[in-house]
Amino acid sequence: MSNNNQNRRQFIKTTGKAGVAIAAFPILSKMSPNSFLNTNDYMQQPLPYGYAALEPNIDAMTMEIHYTKHAAAYAKNLADACVAEKVDTNATGLTDLLKNISHYSPKMRNNAGGHYNHELFWQLMKPAPSIAPSGALAEAITKTFGSFDAFKTTFGDAAKARFGSGWAWLLVKSDGSLAVSSTPNQDNPLMDIAETKGNPIIGLDVWEHAYYLKYQNKRPDYINAWWNLVNWELVQKKYTEAITKK
Ligand code: MN
Repeated sequence: MSNNNQNRRQFIKTTGKAGVAIAAFPILSKMSPNSFLNTNDYMQQPLPYGYAALEPNIDAMTMEIHYTKHAAAYAKNLADACVAEKVDTNATGLTDLLKNISHYSPKMRNNAGGHYNHELFWQLMKPAPSIAPSGALAEAITKTFGSFDAFKTTFGDAAKARFGSGWAWLLVKSDGSLAVSSTPNQDNPLMDIAETKGNPIIGLDVWEHAYYLKYQNKRPDYINAWWNLVNWELVQKKYTEAITKK
């Protein structure tokens, strides 16, 4: 193949992809694909894998409804709340908004949390990841919880014990230590109203919409299956960032 042909094919491939992205995400120009959760990340980002990619642990229909209906609604309602409450999304980072969430409406709290939590949740899963963390994160988990298995038990218990809808978290507190917590509804550890505050490095959605089609009332089975999807490379990266900026 000549270079010209190759360039043309590359051009078609690139613009073709952009065309799809523009149709799905109208404010593409504001997206920065390489800066996840930066100051302007108020928009729903493309899912980093297909709806069926996490099968059999999470089924395709759950992923599609979760992403296109539930999470999309949080992003839209967040945009509406920002207009209504005069938040300049170019000047106020989403994490800064969350850290001051007590100054905003319940609608802002639910949807800013809902948007942030889901964007994190998608990124923190991947098909066929490594089965455990390594390096400094692995050491910190062992030091804090006794062992990796003991951490999984502690985290799983927090996720199972969350009554109704909410999330389980592994977070880095302001002193750099690790903690497990859970929050109701769409709250998260960044929020100034959170009981246990810090930077979340793992978040698990335990709303029924995240698992009901496949697991019905069996939340523990969903939690056990979700461990097969944890993107430990990203968790490690987020841990390093959190202890560096503490
Ligand atoms: Mn959800």
